[in-house]
Formats: sequence, C-alpha cells, structure tokens
Amino acid sequence: MRDSFMQEHGTNRPSDLIIFGGTGDLAMRMLFPSLYFLDSDGHLADDVRIIGAARSDLDRDGFLKTVHERLKSHIAADYYDEAQWQRFAKRIDYCPVDAVEGTGFDALAKAVRLDEGGELVCYFSTAPRFYGDICTHLEANGLAGKNTRVVLEKPIGHDLESCRAVNDAVGAVFTEDRIYRIDHYLGKETVQNLLALRFANSLFEPLWNANGIEQVQITISETVGVEGRWSYYNDSGALRDMLQNHMLQLLCLVAMEPPSTLDADAVRDEKLKVLRSLRPITKQENTLKSVAGQYTEGAVGGTAVPGYLDEAQQESRTETFVALRADIDNWRWRGVPFYLRTGKRLPYRYSEIFIQFKGVPHSIFPEESNLTLDSNKLVIRLQPEENIKLCVMNKVPGLGRDGMKLQEVSLDLSMTKEARTRRRRIAYERLLLDVLNANSTLFVRRDETEAAWAWVDGISKGWRDLDLKPKPYSAGTWGPAASVALTERYGHSWHD
Ligand code: NAP
Repeated sequence: MRDSFMQEHGTNRPSDLIIFGGTGDLAMRMLFPSLYFLDSDGHLADDVRIIGAARSDLDRDGFLKTVHERLKSHIAADYYDEAQWQRFAKRIDYCPVDAVEGTGFDALAKAVRLDEGGELVCYFSTAPRFYGDICTHLEANGLAGKNTRVVLEKPIGHDLESCRAVNDAVGAVFTEDRIYRIDHYLGKETVQNLLALRFANSLFEPLWNANGIEQVQITISETVGVEGRWSYYNDSGALRDMLQNHMLQLLCLVAMEPPSTLDADAVRDEKLKVLRSLRPITKQENTLKSVAGQYTEGAVGGTAVPGYLDEAQQESRTETFVALRADIDNWRWRGVPFYLRTGKRLPYRYSEIFIQFKGVPHSIFPEESNLTLDSNKLVIRLQPEENIKLCVMNKVPGLGRDGMKLQEVSLDLSMTKEARTRRRRIAYERLLLDVLNANSTLFVRRDETEAAWAWVDGISKGWRDLDLKPKPYSAGTWGPAASVALTERYGHSWHD
C-alpha cells in the first residue's frame, strides 16, 4: 500500500508537518484523528513526521499521552487499533513554542529536515491574530524557504480590512502558491461529488442555468448553541462564521462555469468570477433580502435550552441565525434566487444543497386524477449523512380504475453499496493529504476570501446603518418568521 502511494504521488522526500496550536480543540478533534486514519489506510508516506507546537510546557511523552486519550475519545472504538496507534505515535513529536515571543522556533528549526531536501508544512491551528507572528518567526529561523507551505484555518479576519491584514502579514513571507486557506466543507466527499456530477456528466449541464433551474437553497442547520465559546462567537455571528466562508464556497461550486481543467487556478478563477458577480444587497433591499435572528430559550430535541443572551447574561446584537437571498448577475443565473440559511439551535442538524428545476411547461395528465406534478429536485446532503438524490415523478404501479397516478420518487445517485458500508472520512483527511502533496485545488485563494468579505461586509453594514436588531426566535424552531416570509416573497418555500 505504501509503495503504491509513493508511486502514485511520486515523492520520497521527508516531510515534516508542524501543527501550531497542536494542543487545541481542532488539532485534537479533527487533525490528529484525520492523520491517524490517513496513516492506517496507508496514505501517509513513511517519512512523514508530525510535530505539535503550542505554548503548553509538555515533553514528547506528555503530549503523546494527551493525543492518545483524545484520539480514543474522538474516534469510534471499531476504528481504533492499539498496534496502529503505536505505529502512528512514532511519527509524532512536540515542541513548546510561543508565537508572540518567538521562543521555541530555533528548536523547531533543528527538528525539521529542510537541510536534507525535505518539505515542511506548517498548519496554523491557532487564533488568526498569531498567523503573522508565526510567519515572521519561521522566516527568522530559516523555516520559510521554497519548500515550506502554510495552511491557514478560518476565519481569515472578520471583515475585508482585517482579512487583508492577515493576508498581507502571511503574504509578506510566503508567496500565494505556498498558502493554503482551508475550508473543510471543500474536503467533504459529496462536495467533490458535486463536481463529478456537474462535469463528468452531460445530463445536467443543458439545464444548469436560469432556463432549467427555479431556485437553489443552501442550508447549514445546527442544533447546538455556542458551546462555551460565547465570546468567540459573539465577535463573529452566523454571517461571518458560516456564510462568508462555507456557504459562499458551496454556492460557488454550484454556480461556477465549467473550469477548463481541475487545475487549482482554473477552478479558483471560476469561483472568483461567481463571487464577483454576486449582486450587492443594498441598504434599501436589506430587509427584503436578509434576515438576522437570535435564539431565545426553547427546546431542542425535547431538552430545554437557555436563550443566547441568558448564556452570557449580557446584551448582544450578534445574530445566531441568518437567511438571505443572493443573486448572481451573469447570463447563466439571471433571476435565479440562491437562498442561504444557517443558524444555531434549529430543530435538527443538517447541511444540504437543494436545487429545484423548473416544472414541466404543460401537464398531459387529467385534472380529475388530482395530480400535482412536483418539479424535479437535486438534493445534496453533506451532513449528517452524505448522499445525493434526484427526485423525479414516477407512475404508481398498478391498474387503478381512476386513471394514472403519479408519485415523487428519489433516485439515490451518491454511493455504491460498497461506499455505504465504508467508514465516512473526516473532511480534513482529503485536505491534509492534498497539502502534503502540494495540491491546492480544494483550497481558497486570497482574492476569493477578499471578494467574499467585500459582499458580506455590505450586508452587515446595511444592518448597522438601519440599526437592525436580530429578530428573536425560540430555540428549536426554524428561525424568525421573517425567514419564511423571505422565500415566500419570491414564491418559494424552504426545503426543511
Ligand atoms: P483552541 O482550542 O483555543 O486552541 C488554541 C491553540 O493555540 C492551543 O494549542 C494553544 O496552545 C495555542 N496557542 C495559544 N496562544 C499561543 C501562543 N502565543 N503561541 C503558540 N500557541 C498558542 O482553538 P481551536 O478551537 O483549536 O481553534 C484553532 C483555530 O482553528 C482557530 O483559528 C479557530 O477559529 C479555527 N477553527 C476551529 C474549529 C474547531 O472546531 N475548533 C473549527 C474551524 C476553525 P496552549 O493550549 O498550549 O496554550
């Protein structure tokens, strides 16, 4: 398996992966489990080493103990194997660093193998305010040469100005081709399957435009509240935390023109064109096209939960829900609404792209059969399950005396039987492997993040200029009533 990996990827250089913020929540919950699975599936070359770097004063054994405990608590027992852990643990080391003071970077420089012609990947899993400092210290310690790539976690700033500041600070040390901005939604299997569906089939393309599509909806619904991260979330809110990055990236993949190749810049050029074609939501349209909400106390899944303000006992105008209508001003999408909706403390957890095609122009089926011809829909579920369904009308089998009856059935396009029984990969697995292989197709380029912020800033500025407070909604409901009104205003309704 390992030999075939090396042939496939053509590299036998030693690679070191430094995870800054290696003791943090993201590293423990996502990055180490992903690396463990990549290793156990034979996708990590033998010479890949992983160095955790954070402030905590730990030695290697202390760090390994924490990683081991957290790994076992985060992955299903069926997938944990002690012998595999022992093999994986040999790759792991730890180095205490302080990103502000710059301490520990000299020790990192000794630990990595750039001098042996190796490659270095630095994953920034810390607060973004440290990204610039980390780059400066990497450079000062000879760790920022052409064989180094850096991975930036979201959020890249909280508006266009702060995003530019982070990009400038990192860009002062690393060229853009060595900067990998991660959006883990792009690592999801069904998101990549959307690319396959659109560009490996001729079936959909003739309909994939304003003539064939009635509306598109993208929903990311969470049941959880802020989970002890109130102060972080309060500075951000649903618009900046979810919509600016994950949801606009999904919108881009649905709406972009076919790229000429799967090459990173070919794909990212097309996504950028979509972001730049988003019609700004003006102050005048703001209340028609966007809704901000904030949850109050209620019940989710039968459990009583407090309201957002009760959790911190202080006033806040931060939105925990946002719904809006986006329009893309180009030939393909003129007039097609893209409804985006995300929120916390909603009735159930799911992420979905819903594409409704236009209905048939004329029904040949007699009215007395009491038929409604539902239009075709393509439903791409990203979580909790990953699948793609195409809803079509079909005859109800049988010899009904009162004529032909129709029903909507869904064709499961997503997975073969084999894929359904396979372990569902963590989205970070794909992305970590790609960055180790220097493939940036599924990463976000600087101009994309800045175009996304420019559009989102217009919406939050509208809220501020109009002095809008988020509308309250009870926890466990689908957001404020104004969200329902938003789609109904244009003759549509949310697909719940
Ligand atoms: P976290 O649990 O607070 O971890 C922060 C990490 O940064 C810790 O390892 C901490 O080290 C380290 N750190 C803090 N100050 C440092 C300094 N001066 N020098 C060096 N290291 C320092 O945060 P997180 O939840 O893992 O999030 C990390 C990043 O990922 C953030 O940008 C976040 O927005 C992003 N993100 C997180 C998630 C998630 O699910 N958690 C999801 C998406 C994006 P010590 O603990 O040793 O002090």
